[in-house]
Amino acid sequence: MLPESTANLIAAGEVVERPASVVKELVENSLDAGASSVEVALEAGGRGLIMVADDGEGMDREDLLLSIERHATSKLSSPDDLEAVRTLGFRGEALPAIASVSLLRITTSQLAASHGWRLEARAGLPAEVEEVAARPGTVVEVRSLFLNTPARRKFLRSSQRETALALEVLTSIALAHPRCGFTFSADGRKTLSVPPCATRKERVVRLLGPEPALMNSIYEGEGIRVESFATGAGDSRSDRLAQAFLVNGRPVRDRMLAHAVSHVYGPVLPPGRHPVAVLYVDIPPEAVDVNMHPSKNEVRFRRPGDVHHSVVEALRGALGQPAESPSASDRLAAPGTHVGTGWFPRALPLEPPHAGPRFSIAEILTPSEPDADLHDVPIVLGHYRQSFILAADIEGLLLVDQHAAHERVLFEELLGGAPRGATLVQPLLSPVPVELGAAQRALLDLYGEGLAGMGFEVEPFGHDAAVVRALPVLFTGCDPGRLLRDVLSDLARERDVVDDPGEPGRFPGETTTERMRRRFAASAACQAAIKINHALTEEKMAWLLRSLASCRVPTTCPHGRPAILRLAHGAIERAFLRS
Ligand code: ADP
Ligand code: MG
Repeated sequence: MLPESTANLIAAGEVVERPASVVKELVENSLDAGASSVEVALEAGGRGLIMVADDGEGMDREDLLLSIERHATSKLSSPDDLEAVRTLGFRGEALPAIASVSLLRITTSQLAASHGWRLEARAGLPAEVEEVAARPGTVVEVRSLFLNTPARRKFLRSSQRETALALEVLTSIALAHPRCGFTFSADGRKTLSVPPCATRKERVVRLLGPEPALMNSIYEGEGIRVESFATGAGDSRSDRLAQAFLVNGRPVRDRMLAHAVSHVYGPVLPPGRHPVAVLYVDIPPEAVDVNMHPSKNEVRFRRPGDVHHSVVEALRGALGQPAESPSASDRLAAPGTHVGTGWFPRALPLEPPHAGPRFSIAEILTPSEPDADLHDVPIVLGHYRQSFILAADIEGLLLVDQHAAHERVLFEELLGGAPRGATLVQPLLSPVPVELGAAQRALLDLYGEGLAGMGFEVEPFGHDAAVVRALPVLFTGCDPGRLLRDVLSDLARERDVVDDPGEPGRFPGETTTERMRRRFAASAACQAAIKINHALTEEKMAWLLRSLASCRVPTTCPHGRPAILRLAHGAIERAFLRS
């Protein structure tokens, strides 16, 4: 038998990964307690303090003491209840786990009570309770998170980063619970505030902004109701940050749901672009298993095919597309089987006429080594499908991805090895207002200074908008609003930039500012680079190859995808049995 304290630490390992997970558990408790307004505050990215205050039903003394006991919950009473969970929590694990790795204080009072109670627990030691004056509701304060688990503490990122992650969690919970009001502040500064909303639509617009225009559609069938808010074919983002799946009020990650979105949008959006899509899936609780993982952000549907179908139909409705015929949906590829890049037609063997070594395209056409140089400037031979430049150099044939290549060129120009402040800045003739929505507006508070340091001058405006005053010169001609929205969602997502060979993500000794500079440069470059399926003149192709040849790492885009595929001359000769 493990001692109680060890069991709690183990549970904490699963449930309390970082400040954002504490925020998630505490806010879910507030919602389960019927709160109509929840206030979240972080200090030092949650290392100093995580505070969640609600106006819910509160606890009496006995429940307060029980709340930090392992497997104590007020939300289940029989095993059958587990088959149809209607609350967000049910495992009775979160508070004891949090208590075991922090200094925890809970102050609570019930509506009718004349006074309240305060409990204090210190990293797993027995708790103390005293009587206090308190307003109805519950305030949970978590200090010195991971004080007794240094390994966990070491994995925490910068305060800014932890704050952004917590904000992301709160944003998705706020999407799921429109009737509850939420505020979020970091180090005393209020960055997000949404009032209780009467409808989901109102909440979505408040959080994600009226721009890009979201289309609303509802599909009902097979006991499933899907309400979707999604952008049309004209608006998209470079990442999936703005996709939220809310299943019975629970934000979840789910590959099947993500697949349903790309199934509908894949054919209408350019590669690498994703819609803004918020999907509310309401389904009888017994048709979905929420007890898959301690952190409860994955679910399992009893009938995934029906859910997939309903989501596809809802999104088609939003896009104004005709419904899919049943036979077509039967033929649907299973999630994850899409061939990602389309570079290598998979079964295309080159069969030499004689018995001898067999070659396949995939074997001989290889991405260039990341640390390989372009020795000379390749000569342009042609343009393939308006996407790839066919070229030759002394070593053989090359295929160059025009988007990845241009991304690389812009990225290095933007970083430029230039000292801070040397970026050329182009003030806009008239400042451009950009509608952001409360969620991205909150990110601007976190990242605005960093952006300004890179020549992207943006000022917050009102509650959910911003004004762009200047752009780095390289981006004149870009739509500033689109650029800003993309860059903010990229920064929040922290898609790791693999700029240098052999060093994914983070460089040793790199400061947060440098790291952010790199990430900004990568997402801005991606946004501004020549797209796939875009006609290029021969001069433009030659220019692109010249610029690429002078790059430090010409062979990959800043995210590490290949920019050049090579067919070595020796391999060509061998394949034709000429050597
Ligand atoms: P669970 O949410 O799975 O029940 P927790 O450890 O998160 O487990 O919480 C334990 C219990 O403490 C809950 O079941 C609930 O009774 C009580 N509780 C926790 N937070 C609050 C709150 N903000 N308001 C009222 N009761 C709460
Ligand atoms: Mg809970």
